[in-house]
Amino acid sequence: MKITDLLSRKKLTLSFEVFPPKTDSSFDSVKRATEEISKLRPLFMSVTYGAGGGTSKYTLEIAKSIKEKNGVPTVAHLTCVSSTRETVRERIADIRAAGIQNIMALRGDLTPDLADSDRSAWPYRHAIDLIRELKEEGDDLCIGAACYPEVHPESASQREDIMHLKEKVDAGASFLTTQMFFDNNLLYNFLYKIREAGITAPVIPGIMPITRENQVERAIKLSGSFMPRRFISMVDKFGSSPAAMMQAGVAYATDQIIDLFANGITNVHVYTMNKPEVASQIMANLSDILDK
Ligand code: FAD
Repeated sequence: MKITDLLSRKKLTLSFEVFPPKTDSSFDSVKRATEEISKLRPLFMSVTYGAGGGTSKYTLEIAKSIKEKNGVPTVAHLTCVSSTRETVRERIADIRAAGIQNIMALRGDLTPDLADSDRSAWPYRHAIDLIRELKEEGDDLCIGAACYPEVHPESASQREDIMHLKEKVDAGASFLTTQMFFDNNLLYNFLYKIREAGITAPVIPGIMPITRENQVERAIKLSGSFMPRRFISMVDKFGSSPAAMMQAGVAYATDQIIDLFANGITNVHVYTMNKPEVASQIMANLSDILDK
């Protein structure tokens, strides 16, 4: 099932992101956790490709197990920046062979050695190169792309970032998922600007529940997100108590999601960090709000 078809139903729903195991030995525990999360029957689940410390080789296995065990539609992430054309073609063929129709087409982060190297000969310099290749595969694939309400850190300006986002959509990305953010006004402002720029593709806001104090630094490093005063106060007050931080972090994310629904968003993507308890508590908090 294509993500765009699921989104067109306009039901108030959650979708979940998980990441593959970091090591071979953690494969079984990650598989169990992701299957547990899929039992909550989100609208769909996405599986990252090497992000969050996971290795890329298990993306497809995790995506397949979610789809086959609990029938949840899946999105397989795929990055291209350090890959050869041959590798990318193999990955696309594997994704197709697994019966997965949805691919989140990403460039991937530039590690310091990549950032310093001569990029002129790279087969994939930006996500758009992968999107174009996927589009040539035919219309049975549903291609997603990343977007950044707070501007991608490499962009000189938001205008430039949005211009490149429009190019990704014009090249074939039919849905967009955002980087995490902790202040919904940043999302509303971004939506206004991209609609004004002529981008009409559905945008799925990505919400990261921060449930441990040590996640904060990592989240800022990864996303450069702005932390509102009330978010900082929450971490200051509850960060030293794991149970309290868990409850407060889930409540903060729930509050963000309710506000998004109240302002016209229909699907929110939750970065679960492979934690079934986080996904299930958020679902429970929204039990009378989410459409069945
Ligand atoms: P691009 O779209 O290529 O954009 C990167 C930068 O280049 C931006 O500044 C953009 O404005 C600029 N740009 C874009 N096109 C052009 C162009 N044609 N010419 C000049 N400049 C251009 N990383 C992983 O490793 N694995 C994952 O699974 C993963 N999943 C993610 C999911 C989401 C929802 C998000 C938001 C990010 C994810 N990432 C993942 C991180 C992502 O790989 C990084 O943010 C990366 O730095 C940029 O990827 P992109 O696809 O947005 O790149």
